[in-house]
Amino acid sequence: MQRALDRLRAILAEVDDLQNAAGVLAWDQQTYMPPGGARARANQIDTLRRLAHERFTAPEVGSLLDGLAGSAAAADYVSMEASLVRVTRREYEKAVRIPPSLVVEISRAANEGYAAWVEARKHKDFALFRAPLERIARLQAAKADSLGYPTCRFDALLELREPGLTTAEINALFAELREALVPLVRKIGEKLDVIDDSVLHQPFDDAKQWDAGMEALKAIGFDLQRGRQDRSVHPFTTSFSPHDVRLTTRVAPDFFSAAFFASLHEGGHGLYEQGIPDELSRTPLGGGASGGVHESQSRLWENVVGRSRNFWEYFLPRLKQYFPAQLAAASVESFYRAVNRSEPSLIRVEADEVTYNLHIMLRCDLEQKMLDGDLQVKDLPGAWHDAMESYLGVRPKDDLEGVLQDIHWTFGGFATFPGYTLGNVISAQLYVAALGEHPDIPQRIREGEFAQLLEWTRRHVHRHGAKFTPRELVVKATGQELSAKPYLGYIQAKFDELYEL
Ligand code: ZN
Repeated sequence: MQRALDRLRAILAEVDDLQNAAGVLAWDQQTYMPPGGARARANQIDTLRRLAHERFTAPEVGSLLDGLAGSAAAADYVSMEASLVRVTRREYEKAVRIPPSLVVEISRAANEGYAAWVEARKHKDFALFRAPLERIARLQAAKADSLGYPTCRFDALLELREPGLTTAEINALFAELREALVPLVRKIGEKLDVIDDSVLHQPFDDAKQWDAGMEALKAIGFDLQRGRQDRSVHPFTTSFSPHDVRLTTRVAPDFFSAAFFASLHEGGHGLYEQGIPDELSRTPLGGGASGGVHESQSRLWENVVGRSRNFWEYFLPRLKQYFPAQLAAASVESFYRAVNRSEPSLIRVEADEVTYNLHIMLRCDLEQKMLDGDLQVKDLPGAWHDAMESYLGVRPKDDLEGVLQDIHWTFGGFATFPGYTLGNVISAQLYVAALGEHPDIPQRIREGEFAQLLEWTRRHVHRHGAKFTPRELVVKATGQELSAKPYLGYIQAKFDELYEL
């Protein structure tokens, strides 16, 4: 048995090396590569990913997993061996079900779709993206069909992103959130002038913004011996090992929040990756539990911590050293209020904590309908505009403000959106659990002491890597089932107070 396990680990290590090598190339593509490198780089990444896929789906991996099934079942569920065999089996089953020809077709459709999406955005005209999106949606439906599903196609694609969660569960969670958030958005909409955030909209020196973000990253515990931050058009985090984690951000010259909160957000992802134990490295367990759980870590630091009054008690005096003129009149209270201003808006990535999840629900709903054939792609812009109006009370004036705003569909990223809302929900649930163990966390944050909270997430989340499904992890960490209640409690208390509702 030990020999079979060693052999499996050797193959998985190679797969992981190939994927991480592709990851380095993809990171470089989005940070330092000159534009001329695009074609060669796409080939290089494709080749490495194809080799990784072939190695992972080789029949030998299947036989090794079969041979190890008995001993893994006998081992403790949380043990390295049982977890490795269980999670590898789950991922292997999915990987072998998708025909290689479909993978190639999806990748071609993505390239074509991306080019058409860029063109359609330039002309603010969805018609230019319609045919490519029809093809992309058809291929996603085909992918779902080859994977198989209990109830609807979205189930199959969701299982790829959030193992163990079903569409019905996600929809129920969304309905609960919607019921509370839509009226809250309305109430805030009537009192928009209660909060003035003009302090954030001033010229802020680029280099100083960078330095302030780096100071915050160091303060929350991001280890610069094992990571770095660079610039990219869209902020992201990628990890090649727990000892080499890359964050990116972008700096807006006239808006403070863009770079700073992106740094805290990506820093949260980075802390997760840096917290994965070495023993899980070079295996399918050496990453986050799911997109949603990953997002819980970024939202924890970006919002629950970074948009708290306590954080600004600590950090505003520091920030004033970078921007004495711009922040001369700012108090902790006024700055805290400014960074929490809420307003129904059209663009998801600019949305605040109250409105954000409504943007996500809209997309998930449309994806489900597209996959099941209940919504024709040609009818998408209208459906989008109607949903925006009913959820947020605003209506896009063109497709750029509506259906063309996200890149996700170009690469066939169906079912990735639920992860964002799950992240928000789980971040609050984890924070409440952490407070239960350490009621003085808020006081520590006020003093610029973040180690206690980080240590709690290390112990309850990071340490497990991808051993558990999102649900298993939440239950383990909090003692409760996954629930929207802590998040709704957090949002309601915070915004009732901010807007005197
Ligand atoms: Zn994120």
